[in-house]
Amino acid sequence: MPKFIFVIGGVMSGVGKGAAVASIGRILQGYGYRVTAVKIDPYVNVDAGTMNPIEHGEVFVTEDGDETDQDIGNYERFLNENIYSVNYMTTGRVYQTVIEKERNLEYGGRCVEVVPHVPEEVIRRIREAQRHAKSDFTIVEVGGTVGEYQNVLFLEAARMMHLSRPKDVLFVLVSYLPIPKNTGEMKTKPTQYAVRTVNSAGIQPDFILARAECPLDGPRRRKLSVFCNVSDGDVISAPDVDSIYKVPINFEEEGFGRKILKKFGLRPKHRDLADWRKFVESIDESEKPVRIAMVGKYFATGEFTLSDSYLSVIEAVKHAAWAQKRKPVIEWLSAEEFETDPKSVQKLAGYDGLVIPGGFGGRGIEGKMRAIRFVRENGIPYLGLCYGMQLATVEFARNVLGLKDANTEEVYKESPHLVIHTMPEQESLIREKRYGGSMRLGAYPCVLSAGTNARRAYGTKEISERHRHRYEFNNDYREDLKKAGLVISGTSPDGNLVEIVEIKDHPFFVGTQFHPEFKSRPLVPHPLFMAFIRAAAKVDSSRTKLRRSSKGKPAVE
Ligand code: GLN
Repeated sequence: MPKFIFVIGGVMSGVGKGAAVASIGRILQGYGYRVTAVKIDPYVNVDAGTMNPIEHGEVFVTEDGDETDQDIGNYERFLNENIYSVNYMTTGRVYQTVIEKERNLEYGGRCVEVVPHVPEEVIRRIREAQRHAKSDFTIVEVGGTVGEYQNVLFLEAARMMHLSRPKDVLFVLVSYLPIPKNTGEMKTKPTQYAVRTVNSAGIQPDFILARAECPLDGPRRRKLSVFCNVSDGDVISAPDVDSIYKVPINFEEEGFGRKILKKFGLRPKHRDLADWRKFVESIDESEKPVRIAMVGKYFATGEFTLSDSYLSVIEAVKHAAWAQKRKPVIEWLSAEEFETDPKSVQKLAGYDGLVIPGGFGGRGIEGKMRAIRFVRENGIPYLGLCYGMQLATVEFARNVLGLKDANTEEVYKESPHLVIHTMPEQESLIREKRYGGSMRLGAYPCVLSAGTNARRAYGTKEISERHRHRYEFNNDYREDLKKAGLVISGTSPDGNLVEIVEIKDHPFFVGTQFHPEFKSRPLVPHPLFMAFIRAAAKVDSSRTKLRRSSKGKPAVE
């Protein structure tokens, strides 16, 4: 019988529920079980594609072209498996289906009500995800925290599933234990309230995952046990870690995986976290830095800088760096600063590589192109992802081919040289302002040309990568750009769509129309990121050599 684990949040969000789901999954997988994970977002938005990345974090794209939450990316990275559209739902999606079914008379003339029909649709979706993945364990992350109106119906679905199959469903509450500065004492009361709130939804947590700055001590563990009605062995200490990849190892130390199996009356089929442990060790063994600059616009929010908007890119850089025993040092530079103060672009000389990730709209693009020009002319490795590839093409058209007013249609339609333009099939959608899900989305095949950086990196002729964009390379400029030295190293199998551009006589300058970052996994780093980091590490080594020879003594790293 398939088992279901609901992971719900107490006290506050952003304390690592997604990492907990992914880590529980990784452990159970290590015990020889098939695992999948489902994310429930309480938003009314039908997908994550229409949300601002600053507010919602990265939009993660699945193989089958769904625009989902960044947690799906974490599941893929930890489980090393593709997660599909069936594993993601939002309130909007659930209601959309219920309303469509009602319109199609699928409720047989009955009065369609919020309860039970909406929770029933949630349950149907969870079961569908289980069947699709043929999983032994399906871990369901309920977004948000208990006590929010928004997720009441999802908790109701969880309660109903438990009622119908109590032996196959369990609940984990991920809660936060603050340590106020003035008392210096870890507080359990917010968690006690959170448990009471879940209780009022008819749910009793089987485990409490106590997230805090530091490990849980005996008295606090007992308090949580008594007041939250959970045996003290089922209160799991989950202190902060410097890398989320260490979470499964910590859980294992707490015996969390075995405790879950025991509650279901199961045993480990085998035990295998060895590859994961080895990977985690490589993180600590990577000491020599490789400095990567990222230029984007979705970083700043008020006084804070968020890296969540580019989560998969950052993880992909890390995976490739650790695999080469390099410590990834990623710094965010502001595209707008390069516009207001053009000289500031010189800062890039202090980095071993530049990544320009995906993006939309006109803000900051001139600054990004200044950065691209600088690394192109100064031999600093460059990896352009989607918008980063399109802007590299515009920059090349302007400054090498000499089409001074070249642009992308997204930013300046009136330009006489739209080297990046609307795909003909998308034109009508944009005209009708149908933006939701109107992009080229999901996995597409790509053929690589011999003798190019891309082909060398992948070591194979045909690849498949995930896309998310509206605009495309304009073939009217293909021949001229090629003559000027732009290499088209990857195209769609029919040769029509340009998927990768690069330039010769440069240590590494590659732009991809797709998003390779979505397919990078900790245990299987992405070949393009590997090649990029390899080139960046060379820059670092030659720079170190230069410093050594000019000063006659070893320079400080
Ligand atoms: N804005 C560009 C487009 O729509 C690039 C999108 C992206 O970088 N994901 O084509």
